[in-house]
Amino acid sequence: MRILVTGGAGFIGSHLCERLLAEGNEVICLDNFFTGRKANVAHLFDDRRFELVRHDVTEPILLEVDQIYNLACPASPIHYQFNPVKTVKTSVMGMINMLGMAKRVKARILQASTSEVYGDPLIHPQTEDYWGNVNPIGPRSCYDEGKRVAETLMMDYHRQNGVDTRIVRIFNTYGERMMENDGRVVSNFVVQALRGEPLTIYGDGSQTRSFCYVSDLVDGIIRLMNTEAESIHLPVNIGNPGEFTMNELAEEVGKATGKRIEIKYLPLPQDDPKQRKPNIERAQKLLGWEPKVNLAEGLKKTVAYFAESIGDVAATARH
Ligand code: NAD
Ligand code: UDP
Repeated sequence: MRILVTGGAGFIGSHLCERLLAEGNEVICLDNFFTGRKANVAHLFDDRRFELVRHDVTEPILLEVDQIYNLACPASPIHYQFNPVKTVKTSVMGMINMLGMAKRVKARILQASTSEVYGDPLIHPQTEDYWGNVNPIGPRSCYDEGKRVAETLMMDYHRQNGVDTRIVRIFNTYGERMMENDGRVVSNFVVQALRGEPLTIYGDGSQTRSFCYVSDLVDGIIRLMNTEAESIHLPVNIGNPGEFTMNELAEEVGKATGKRIEIKYLPLPQDDPKQRKPNIERAQKLLGWEPKVNLAEGLKKTVAYFAESIGDVAATARH
């Protein structure tokens, strides 16, 4: 198949491009390089089935493809809050452009949605039928509400125009090729620990997240894209149900890096969700999917990557 991956030069997108090529597909990677880098996909340039296109999804484009994975959107709070209006445009206009293309060329389309559609959730763990508790006017709204409208557009193009759609709600994902300055908690803690700096915990560190290793996530979304079922157009949670407080995560990072950890407590950002954990029964039933890599194993691989990329020779030698 010929497959388009928007946001393909980003963290998750680059792993997805790699897997799709390995499975024998042609891949067009489209990116505006806001948070993505050519370096993330440079190892794929020699494959003649791989193409890289610099383009912004807020502008229309027409490509003849069989499938579209729409991942284009900054994912880390510091990046999506840098230009919030652009973040909304990316999710909303980008989604309309990609759905228009899917409709025209009859491609199947998968939208990378997020656990952030549940906001600061009042039910725990989160099931897909929960409508969420989202602030529509806060600093996270450009991302959360943008992704919620994108889901609305997916469902309406499906019902109104018969577009073949898939929606994955991705829970916190980590692994190789996150940026050092990405600002998300796993990359921050790992880089800080390797540099011998104190780990910055926001708030008292009692808030929880559930961390999915990137290979598990990619496996789940490829399965979702290629599964047929009557209810397949409805959202599916993909994440690892292992739930950790940020204090526990700091300890795990200490173990994975072999470093003595110091903590610096900083103020909690506004509207920071207090707890988050996916209910993955739907993915288990529909896709036969569940995560295989636990936090300790995934962190080990992530630490090895950052140790090399930031040049911590001693830590590289240990891993
Ligand atoms: P990322 O920031 O590494 O990747 C996003 C990519 O999209 C980057 O390469 C960026 O340059 C590109 N991009 C941004 N705006 C664009 C635009 N207007 N036009 C074209 N390209 C654009 O983030 P990621 O973690 O790889 O996330 C990928 C997708 O998964 C995002 O849609 C994100 O919302 C979603 N997601 C990620 C997580 C996670 O924990 N990583 C959780 C939930 C949802
Ligand atoms: N966080 C933290 N220290 C950091 C970065 C983030 O304590 O250096 C916290 C953040 O406040 C949140 C959790 O870690 O409670 C996850 O943050 P991240 O930005 O990775 O993802 P999201 O909040 O979007 O789930």
